[in-house]
Amino acid sequence: MTSSAYDPANIFGKILRGEIPCHRVYEDAHTLAFMDVMPQADGHTLVVPKRPSRGLLDADPAVFAPLFATVQRVAAAAKAAFAADGVAVYQYNEAAAGQTVFHLHVHVLPRHEGAAPRRHAGGMADPAVLAAHAERIRAALDA
Ligand code: AMP
Repeated sequence: MTSSAYDPANIFGKILRGEIPCHRVYEDAHTLAFMDVMPQADGHTLVVPKRPSRGLLDADPAVFAPLFATVQRVAAAAKAAFAADGVAVYQYNEAAAGQTVFHLHVHVLPRHEGAAPRRHAGGMADPAVLAAHAERIRAALDA
């Protein structure tokens, strides 16, 4: 079994502390949503709880209600912003399951009929494109 304690030096911990930038989509007292820098589809957004945990298994269950309230809002906005046919919501726990950043996060991925998602953690997107996509989702959240 490979798992250990939460390490606050992880990249999403740094984003939450404002130590590195992100393309912010939404923030409230409990959660932050921002663009995935290696999107598997246009509009690929990550939603994180502010309270630290490595993943689902060590999280305080109290985080799930606010976390999934934000996931629902962002999923609806991303689906609308990208005129998607559906939206995939997924979450990995530990490296064996595909997790690469060890702060609980939920992927929100607009999906179009017949379009396969790109490879997980494939290539870095153009920051200007990510900024524009974040703006589209923020506009849909406000609509
Ligand atoms: P997971 O494999 O579920 O841990 O997913 C981690 C995700 O974080 C991947 O899809 C990466 O593309 C994404 N990612 C890594 N670094 C950053 C970053 N600095 N800002 C936004 N997304 C990131």
